[in-house]
Amino acid sequence: MGVVLSRLRRVFGRRASLQEIAPKTSTTPDAKSSESVQSSTPEPTPSPSPIHIAIIGSGIGGLSLGVGCLRNNVSFTIYESAAQYSVIGAGVGLGPNALRAMAMISPELRAAYDTISSGNLSEEKLHVAMEAMYAEPGFGESRGWTPQPFGAECYERTSAHRRDLLNILTAHIPDNAVQFNKRVTDIQQFPNEGRCVVSFSDGTTATCTAVIGCDGVKGASRGFVLGPAGFPEEVAPVFAGKYCYRSIVPMETATAVLGAEYAGDAKCFNGPGVNIMTYPISSGTECNIVACKFVDEPWKHPQWTHRVPIETIRTDFPNVDDRLVKLIQCAEPVQWALHHHIQTSTYHHGLLCLLGDSAHATTPHQASGAGMSIEDALILSHVLGRVTRWQDLEAAFAAYDAVRRPRAQKIVVTSQELGRMYACSDPRYGDDMGKIVENLNVRFLWIWEHDLKADMDTVCKLFREKTANGKNT
Ligand SMILES: Cc1cc2nc3c(=O)[nH]c(=O)nc-3n(C[C@H](O)[C@H](O)[C@H](O)COP(=O)(O)OP(=O)(O)OC[C@H]3O[C@@H](n4cnc5c(N)ncnc54)[C@H](O)[C@@H]3O)c2cc1C
Repeated sequence: MGVVLSRLRRVFGRRASLQEIAPKTSTTPDAKSSESVQSSTPEPTPSPSPIHIAIIGSGIGGLSLGVGCLRNNVSFTIYESAAQYSVIGAGVGLGPNALRAMAMISPELRAAYDTISSGNLSEEKLHVAMEAMYAEPGFGESRGWTPQPFGAECYERTSAHRRDLLNILTAHIPDNAVQFNKRVTDIQQFPNEGRCVVSFSDGTTATCTAVIGCDGVKGASRGFVLGPAGFPEEVAPVFAGKYCYRSIVPMETATAVLGAEYAGDAKCFNGPGVNIMTYPISSGTECNIVACKFVDEPWKHPQWTHRVPIETIRTDFPNVDDRLVKLIQCAEPVQWALHHHIQTSTYHHGLLCLLGDSAHATTPHQASGAGMSIEDALILSHVLGRVTRWQDLEAAFAAYDAVRRPRAQKIVVTSQELGRMYACSDPRYGDDMGKIVENLNVRFLWIWEHDLKADMDTVCKLFREKTANGKNT
């Protein structure tokens, strides 16, 4: 990681400055795709920002938005409740859509991602997302099942440690653009004055033109958007009927426990009420494990994460191959309740807007939550770059909502459906792994092949229509 940071710093200096990393053009061709952000209808070059945005939260969503704002000359400050950038987290897999979005936000960021990510360790499995297996003892061998790949030509397997991903993002953010120890407790907006006042738990306040809530699934900003917008019942995250154990182990450990045949390349082990994923990260030196347990009862523990006795892992995965149980037991025995925002009727209200998990937290089955936040950041920063007066901010948010919400909410719904399929509780597939793989080979295409350039054109077109002839005056 030090290498990545030092490389970035060689390119940008100690910390990137706005001028150095925000070229005046918005044309950022993807190193790996023919897509570029150049609209078919020429868009005016972004001029210096007439607005100042408060970005709440410095997760993948908030930081990606920050990088996008730099590129589009949109002035911003990030307010983060923690004392420093997060260094915790597990593996994150990104699809080609997310990588294109990243490249369109910043080709340098996309290039840095290549230095921290890992594919399958077998080179011939470049386009394999995962190999589907039975979780049962013997991994389905007694049924004659051998690991079956799913993926697509348009897809290249890549995952990273969340810490490394955050590091390459933060290397792009100037130090003076972030304030730590700033837990948002209240947001007041004065739409007729183009002004918001954000209050923090330390008693201070900040004034800005608009607020983008990137504060995650439990974030406070969701309440300030959906409550006043008339959807208070949608504010609280909904328990998705499953919890997971997450861990990262050295690849040697994974190989010793699972066997060389099953470690190294990404695997998806399925069985009644369980789904366990393993995949390489950190240039193949580590193996990420996410083991989901599906339950019928509501989540009762007051905390979303809580420690359980190590034996609970065995009782949670009763008909699972012993090798997998042992691998899961390498994790801290902590259960993480999975919550999502299955219904979100709007992503904006007045001068407040939502991005990332605060808008559309999803279950992890389609490995798309972080990817969606990067796509959000691309579209929102692009349209914000076209705002020349604060009176047009609501139109920009409405255009972003129209482009992003249908796709992001579809992710939330289809991910929950996929969870049922993995857990063998979808009657159309049962435990027929052949049928499941058939579905897996097509179900991701709409996510991976999505045309982001068309989205950028659409968001600009909608914005132009909404603001034509000073409609918002
Ligand atoms: C088990 C699991 C596996 C996953 N795997 C994948 C995957 O493979 N691929 C993928 O794309 N996605 C994956 N995801 C989803 C992904 O991790 C999230 O979608 C993504 O990290 C969300 O980023 P975010 O910036 O929106 O929110 P967060 O990362 O939650 O960041 C929110 C930030 O806001 C701060 N904050 C919170 N409240 C306040 C406040 N009041 N004031 C100020 N700051 C505040 C927090 O401290 C935090 O820094 C997975 C999720 C899980 C649970």
